This record gives sequence, structure tokens and C-alpha cells, in this order.
Amino acid sequence: MVHQIYLDAAEIAAPKVSSDRTHVIAPDLAYKRLAIVNVVFYGLPLARDREWVLIDAGIRGTGGLIRRAAEKRFGSRPAAIILTHGHFDHVGALGDLAERWDVPIYAHELETPYLNGHRSYPPPNPRVGGGLMARLSPLYPRGPIDIHSRLKLLPPNGNVPGMPGWVWIHTPGHSPGHVSLWRESDRTLIAGDAFITTNQESAYAVALQRPEMHGPPMYYTPDWPRAGRSVQRLADLEPELVITGHGAAMRGDEMREALHTLARTFDMIAVPR
Ligand SMILES: [Zn+2]
Ligand SMILES: [Zn+2]
Repeated sequence: MVHQIYLDAAEIAAPKVSSDRTHVIAPDLAYKRLAIVNVVFYGLPLARDREWVLIDAGIRGTGGLIRRAAEKRFGSRPAAIILTHGHFDHVGALGDLAERWDVPIYAHELETPYLNGHRSYPPPNPRVGGGLMARLSPLYPRGPIDIHSRLKLLPPNGNVPGMPGWVWIHTPGHSPGHVSLWRESDRTLIAGDAFITTNQESAYAVALQRPEMHGPPMYYTPDWPRAGRSVQRLADLEPELVITGHGAAMRGDEMREALHTLARTFDMIAVPR
């Protein structure tokens, strides 16, 4: 019986790690790991003002780190910040960054109540997943934050503002308005927390970052049937390169196979008992 899907280290897609620990995974794509979560930079190095995009905004107190990494890679301001979803570890530095850069923030309509001060996420379930991160989860902030003055909806035609050639795909389950970003031309997927590549329930696994194909963080996922369908939809895209909210970016056959295994055995390995 399958319980965990580990991947070979060879599949990790981080050919270049710069001195500030930004992982460059494609000419116009890099990510930075901030303690427990990744933020993604879309845009060519030294992109002009308003010609690059930040995807997600880390945990609180990491605004300076994100800004310095952006300053080093681009030396300019982004066109937009795109949110895969509004959990605390993806919006922590959002207010700070949006203010400094004076940028719009885009999210799915179903995520807006958590971003305009109207609603908190349901409480996490500390009993699922078994690890320290899961047990600590009641301490995590549940919002809501209020950034309504900068908040814009992702356009209904699927285009991603500031990211030509990309589409957003609604991948609910982990949160109601969760989205993933997809570029068909090189089959690149930014999956947020729809699935992740580390065991986020376990502090040990998070520290080790042993590559693992894993369902969305358990303590925070309220709708497992939808989450399973979202993973199947992303597996069906047959991505070549994936970067998720937690864990290392991965590419290639083994990653694809692991993603299909995750989709196929989702009820058994991703859904808590
Ligand atoms: Zn999340
Ligand atoms: Zn997350």
C-alpha cells in the first residue's frame, strides 16, 4: 500500500542558486524559500519597471527579504502580486510589499472574503497529519486581512495580469478560491498548495526538504473531494516543471509519475484518516 511518494533528488529543478538563496528554475522563473513557504518571481533578470510579477507573499516579517531578492534580480517594481490563495503563509508580507511597490493584488473571487476583512478561514485541524507543524497549526493566524483597496479579481478569461502566455486555473479544495498558474508553451505549473513537494505537517520533513509528492497541507484543507479533483486536473496537464508553495521545484518523468500516483491514490495518502 502506498503511504508516501518520495522522489529522487535528481529531479529537483534548481540548477542555479544565487547567493541570496533564490533558486533560478527557468530564464524567467525563480523562487525563494522563506522558512516554511516559497514565493515565486516571474520575469527576466533586470526586467524593467512593472515588467515582472510576484506570486504569493510569504510569512509575516519576510517583506525585507522578498524586497531584497527582488531588488537583486530585477532592480525595479513589479506589475502585480498574484495570490494562489490567502492563507497566512502566502500573504504575510503582502501589505508591506503592496504599499512599498504601489501594486495591484490579484486573487480569485472566492478568496476575496479572506482578503477584504469579511471572513476568517475555518480553524485548522491539529489532529491530522501527526507532525509538529500540524500540532502548532491552531496558533497560525487565520485572518482575515484587509487589502481591499488594492485587491482586483483575476480576469474571467483566464489571463494572468503581467504574465503573458500564462492562464490561471481554479483548483479549489485547499481553499475555496485557490488557483494554479499554467504556461502551456513549456508546460510549467505554479501549483500553490493544491499539492506540495514536502510533508508540511512535519517540522522534520520541512527542515530536511526531502522531495515528496504530497497532498495539500492537511491541517488547513477543508474540502478533500474538491482537493482531489484539483490534483487530478493538474496531473492531466502533464507538467514538465512544477513549483509549489512548500518544498523544492521539480521537473521530469519521475515528478509526473509521482503526481499521477498522488491523484490516483489521493483518498489513501493525501486525505487524513
Ligand atoms: Zn495554504
Ligand atoms: Zn501554504
